[in-house]
Amino acid sequence: MTTMLTTWKEPGHVTMGAASTKLAQTGSLLDAIEAGLTAAEDDPELIAIGRGSLPNSDGELELDASVMRGDNLDAGAVCAMRGIFPAISVARKVMETTPHVMLAGDQARRFAIQHGFVPENLVTEEVCRRYREYLVSPERAKAYVHTAQDNRQDPPHDTVTMLGLQDGKFVAASSTSGMPFKIPGRVGDSPIVGAGIYADDEAGAAGATGLGEELWKACASFRAVQNLARGMSAQEACDEVARHMRRRQTKCHEIPCVVLALDKNGGFGAALTTGEFDLWVWRDGDLECHHYTQVQD
Ligand code: ASP
Repeated sequence: MTTMLTTWKEPGHVTMGAASTKLAQTGSLLDAIEAGLTAAEDDPELIAIGRGSLPNSDGELELDASVMRGDNLDAGAVCAMRGIFPAISVARKVMETTPHVMLAGDQARRFAIQHGFVPENLVTEEVCRRYREYLVSPERAKAYVHTAQDNRQDPPHDTVTMLGLQDGKFVAASSTSGMPFKIPGRVGDSPIVGAGIYADDEAGAAGATGLGEELWKACASFRAVQNLARGMSAQEACDEVARHMRRRQTKCHEIPCVVLALDKNGGFGAALTTGEFDLWVWRDGDLECHHYTQVQD
């Protein structure tokens, strides 16, 4: 029995298509999740992950990615890494070939090149166009991002976070270009173990997407997995995190912070501090999309 979750409507179907194909080929959950995130990173239409995603305020793409296994708590991550595809595979390399958890910036890129990744320009024409708009009117470009999100035309928060459970073993992973037009060097929750992802076979797995600074301060994924360990269902675990964030962190009233979780029985849940969110759920070949709105206080 295998269950996989992935975030947001648009990237979610790209991700799940590739992940389920890989799972059928190899039977490996880790390979499947890596393939899912790789496909999303490779799709230039997805503006918050990999190739063609929105840049920082210097016009450069800085990518964050992470992966964690629940069986031994091994984890690997890269942050603020430029010009390497797929970032998730570099994160996996960090996990599997080094004694470290995270490599940052140009040294992450150097590590990737040393391991056979070929540096490339991930900035598309569309990214250049949006960056020119940003230079002319930074506030308008940022406002556009938020308006588009509210109108659900072009959601900028489409970081892909995936959770999986196969025969009692969990994997969590995430990949993103982070906040559009961020200060260069800014890193959000997605590559941070405990903030953007967490997996522990003794309890479950959790992940996050949305306003990374707030999710990080809340240690959102770790908190959700701790809730699972205390016996909450996946939905209760996520609700508790989102409610706590709304109570303590007013910035998450304006920009969504989403937490998702998967428990040992394959039960799933998600909760958010504001706005709307779609979660794809794949279970042994059946795919469903679940829609969520703001958690009740
Ligand atoms: N959490 C990501 C970050 O803050 C962004 C997102 O999920 O939209 O970098």
